[in-house]
Amino acid sequence: MTDVRAKKSLGQHFLVDMSVAKGVADSLRVESPTRVLEIGPGMGALTQFLLQDPNINLTAIEVDRESVDYLKLNYPQLDVVSGDFLRLPLETIVPEGDFYVVGNYPYNISTQIFFKILEYRDRIPVAAGMLQKEVAERFAAPPGSRTYGITSVLLQAFYNIEYLFTVHEHVFSPPPKVKSAVIRMERNEVKHLPCNEQLFVKVVKTAFGQRRKTLRNSLKSLTGDSPLPSQYLLQRPECLSVEQFVELTNEIERILESKK
Ligand code: SAH
Repeated sequence: MTDVRAKKSLGQHFLVDMSVAKGVADSLRVESPTRVLEIGPGMGALTQFLLQDPNINLTAIEVDRESVDYLKLNYPQLDVVSGDFLRLPLETIVPEGDFYVVGNYPYNISTQIFFKILEYRDRIPVAAGMLQKEVAERFAAPPGSRTYGITSVLLQAFYNIEYLFTVHEHVFSPPPKVKSAVIRMERNEVKHLPCNEQLFVKVVKTAFGQRRKTLRNSLKSLTGDSPLPSQYLLQRPECLSVEQFVELTNEIERILESKK
């Protein structure tokens, strides 16, 4: 069978350097029998290495019919689900238990993919793989860094994130316009944040919605004229750690409660 024709609309950039593909597969660091879900296997660059690991029990999900046909022909032993990762309830793919997630992800929807991983965080101890470099940097950025933003806080609330290595455009066909990077995220110990989690998300999004403003100004839309007791009011959102956003969320919750 001939190669799959790369479709831009599906974010298809196939890895052609097999040592990089192996590096991405290895970034999972599987040490004992583990269920693994690969997102967007394409023509199987990573898949072939995942299949070689006797500890990995692999399922792949691919939205492109042409790629699914290619995989069925070339990797008959592979369990491949034809469908859209963002739309399918993951219970239908992995009915129970924990599983790791890996991929050379479609860059056009990578943030949505990681928000879905976050939704299933209590079943996903590890997620790793390749992303656009800027997105990978944002996910892993510590407070105080210029790239620290909404996704950094929301992901780091539940995962420890490592930036592993940078990947050059020329290892893909067709080459993307941007550099890439491989990250690994491991679930931390936090089961629930010690605050109202919905309000936490709202506070983080509101604060970064106007990231150049001080928190006193950007959070007025949530608290109105009631003064916040916070010691962080004169700071900008990129300076606050997850714990400090939790503290701020609790202060805002108290104000909202007192207004009821
Ligand atoms: N892993 C392959 C392909 C990477 S390109 C490699 O490294 O060579 C990204 C892949 O994600 C493509 O195969 C594309 O068809 C697939 N994809 C895009 N959107 C998807 C979605 N919503 N669900 C599942 N797969 C998707």
